[in-house]
Amino acid sequence: MPYLTKDKDKELEKKDAILESLLEGVVSFDAKDRVIYANFAAGQMFSCGKKKLEKDLLKGSEILVSKSLALLATARQLGAAVTDSLFLEKGKKTYLNLVAVPLQEGSFLVLQDASSDQKILQMGKDFVANASHELKTPITIIRGFAETLQDMKDLPKEIVDEILEKIVKNCQRMNTLVRSLLTLADIENIPLVNCVSCDLGALAQEGKRSLLSVYPNAQIEIVEEDGCIAVVEEGILELALFNLLDNAAKYSTGPAKITVTLSQDEESVTVSVNDKGPGIPPHDLDHIFERFYTVNKAHSRKLGGAGLGLSLVKKIIEKHDGVLSVTSLLGEGTTFTFRLPKDRR
Ligand code: ADP
Repeated sequence: MPYLTKDKDKELEKKDAILESLLEGVVSFDAKDRVIYANFAAGQMFSCGKKKLEKDLLKGSEILVSKSLALLATARQLGAAVTDSLFLEKGKKTYLNLVAVPLQEGSFLVLQDASSDQKILQMGKDFVANASHELKTPITIIRGFAETLQDMKDLPKEIVDEILEKIVKNCQRMNTLVRSLLTLADIENIPLVNCVSCDLGALAQEGKRSLLSVYPNAQIEIVEEDGCIAVVEEGILELALFNLLDNAAKYSTGPAKITVTLSQDEESVTVSVNDKGPGIPPHDLDHIFERFYTVNKAHSRKLGGAGLGLSLVKKIIEKHDGVLSVTSLLGEGTTFTFRLPKDRR
């Protein structure tokens, strides 16, 4: 018999250890809703600690206590498990899923911290809302102008030409936006498969040629160490570099002065794009890599941007196991720098 008790003790100890190590909070109650047991995670979720929670439920976070008691009462009434969720805003914002389960005598509660799932869900919602908003603007403009042409058949030729130009410009804007969105989705979901040894100096020269075809007056200097070679997916890295060059030219007032510098050490290649443009306000620097973030929405729109360029660059560099950073001084200019491992294999 004593052996049996010992085995039982060990079993209980094991169960206790399992409950204590769970990320989910677990609280068990007697028939009068007094706490019999609470694990460590529950103590943290109720913001009072395991010990206090086990002594008195009311020591816990008020809103969570009242929600839990209400849920336990419903579970008891229905004789079945019930679920609910709760957003706690005190201190760190937490989104909790709660399950109350009635037992023959008493009940128990399981609490799951679903904050990160909720954040991902919210990011998805924001993304769709932003994308639809950005697409809606050119569609509204195109529709307005097309209706004008439809309703006013005898407009002078100059006005008709002006309207057509605006329609074409907004179609281009929509095209750029859709392409950026599709590239972003591709880069997020598709692994890099076509990586080859690439001369980044040659890539910078190619970027310079492309930029000059759009901004013929831009001054672009390339300062490079010989043989800056890295294994990359050439097409998409070129896109990242072009986005940085394009921004440097786009946001400069007057002809842009841009310097692209390439250097290397044994393991990595560093590329920086410096401009002498207006710079970026310090409080915006932390946000410019977020999707749809623009320092000045109206100004960006006028220049054909929707705040997707830098998030695309960041994704591309990270996909290559690289790091992207920025330094900027108002009125003096901005430098974007990315460092890539020479070979990720
Ligand atoms: P967009 O597509 O609108 O240009 P980006 O994601 O490329 O968006 O850039 C985000 C914001 O960062 C822009 O709204 C712009 O204000 C700022 N920015 C980016 N590059 C530069 C730069 N070289 N100089 C000044 N501001 C810049």
